[in-house]
Amino acid sequence: MYIARLQLKNFKSFGGSHELPLSEGFTAIVGPNGSGKSNILDGLRWGLGDSNGGRLRITRQSDLLFQGTTTRQPSKSTEVALELKDGDTSTVIRRRFSDESGAVTLVDGVKHRLQDLSEVKRRWRLDGDRFAFIGQGDVTDAITHRPMQRRNHLEELFGIDTYRKRRDDALNK
Ligand code: ATP
Ligand code: MG
Repeated sequence: MYIARLQLKNFKSFGGSHELPLSEGFTAIVGPNGSGKSNILDGLRWGLGDSNGGRLRITRQSDLLFQGTTTRQPSKSTEVALELKDGDTSTVIRRRFSDESGAVTLVDGVKHRLQDLSEVKRRWRLDGDRFAFIGQGDVTDAITHRPMQRRNHLEELFGIDTYRKRRDDALNK
């Protein structure tokens, strides 16, 4: 399985539509400071359902919207799409946000709740944000985890967190 394509539309510093073809295996992103390397990873994280402001380096969701430049209008909506590929099988996960409609997640064009996206990610072995992304400071974080944080982290890695979330969901209904 690999991420074959990442499309960023008016996401953070990426005004307009940008298509990033990715190949199977290892991809390196290089560029000067402030050129948007981390924003690409933020796009991947967000596209895969992460809404954590700290990890996405935002204070509110609208910080994801392209803020405009002297030559380009600020954007009212943003969209990230990523195509997952495994042999002949592929799936497109698309996430949109606008101030008016909030965030919407589509898997192959079908609306999904964020909770249901984790099932899709599990199928594609992309579950557990921490499993897919090792960000700056994550290693230090893991060492200094408190017992409960460590448990949550391990539950996420082993996929037990979905069942906890489902149970919590059911109990809250
Ligand atoms: P470094 O090498 O320093 O880590 P980087 O390539 O990772 O740099 P990013 O953090 O991805 O850089 O990009 C930072 C730039 O993105 C800043 O110039 C910031 O102003 C810009 N930026 C962040 N959010 C937005 C937004 N919503 N609209 C427009 N520009 C944005
Ligand atoms: Mg960076």
